[in-house]
Amino acid sequence: MGSVVEVRIARRTGFCYGVREAIDKAKAAAAAGKPTHTLGQVVHNAGVIRDLAALGVRPVDSLDDVDEGAAVVIRAHGVRPEVMARAQERGLEVIDGTCTWVIQEQRELVRLVQEGYTVVILGTPHHPEVVGLLGFAPDAIVVDEEEEWERIPRRKRMALLSQSTQPPWKFEKLAAFMVSRAHELKIVNTVCPVTIRRQQDTLETAREVDLMVVVGGRNSANTRELTRLCGLVGTPAIQVESAADLRDPGAFDGARIVGVTGGTSTPIEDLRAVAERVLLLAGTPEVASRAGDLAAAALAAAATPAGRTTSLATVPADP
Ligand code: SF4
Repeated sequence: MGSVVEVRIARRTGFCYGVREAIDKAKAAAAAGKPTHTLGQVVHNAGVIRDLAALGVRPVDSLDDVDEGAAVVIRAHGVRPEVMARAQERGLEVIDGTCTWVIQEQRELVRLVQEGYTVVILGTPHHPEVVGLLGFAPDAIVVDEEEEWERIPRRKRMALLSQSTQPPWKFEKLAAFMVSRAHELKIVNTVCPVTIRRQQDTLETAREVDLMVVVGGRNSANTRELTRLCGLVGTPAIQVESAADLRDPGAFDGARIVGVTGGTSTPIEDLRAVAERVLLLAGTPEVASRAGDLAAAALAAAATPAGRTTSLATVPADP
């Protein structure tokens, strides 16, 4: 018999505003009757891709797969400047869904390069945002884990900035490390505030519950970081991509209150579905019988105006 009596969803979860805007732009273009594509999957989430496909929005791997005159949405991570130029050359309608925060990052980078700094980017090497950034600063040095930092050269004038979703502690640690690498060190903190808030809210929930479920892409670094943070405060965490991954009630043995959080590419509908699944799978009989209502209530309790984090029509309008 299940032991779970309550599920709590972390505050301010769901899509970050960058992802939400890019999806909204794709939907608006399709609604206006334009043949619309996204360059790459706008978000690695099967439900969202299905939702967009139903509106006729199809992801493409390359601009060559887009017919002339069609619209192409650039996703929140942004792209190298050559990609924008090529799309314009081909007569495509470019709908720029690059997150405003990422645009800011790209501008900072251009400025640093023009000012002659040797630039170090804290980021995951082949992540699309980092690939896009390198288009603005081809000589920048990308580092991720601490073991790699030794290869950062010593230069007179160095600058450091970050991929938007890197953990703030790692950025601070790298900044401290680089102090001894340069005569002049310029630090531009481009860790996105959404990332910081998401981590704070996840920690807040993790401290209150017996077990956490973290929902997000297996390869999503910001999701993995949330899982790691739960462990730091001593709360065991299970990471899943969707509710369907939760099959073993034994994983919840003895847990009474379970927390749910998700990465910046996880829609809040998925968090509600996970909450319901936990209650059905591991709830006490009384709780399991009301799983749907309780999951909806958990979502309503978590949603704040700042957590306006989805564009999907299936979710009620913000309070
Ligand atoms: S994490 Fe932040 S910077 Fe990255 S797309 Fe989302 S809002 Fe923009």
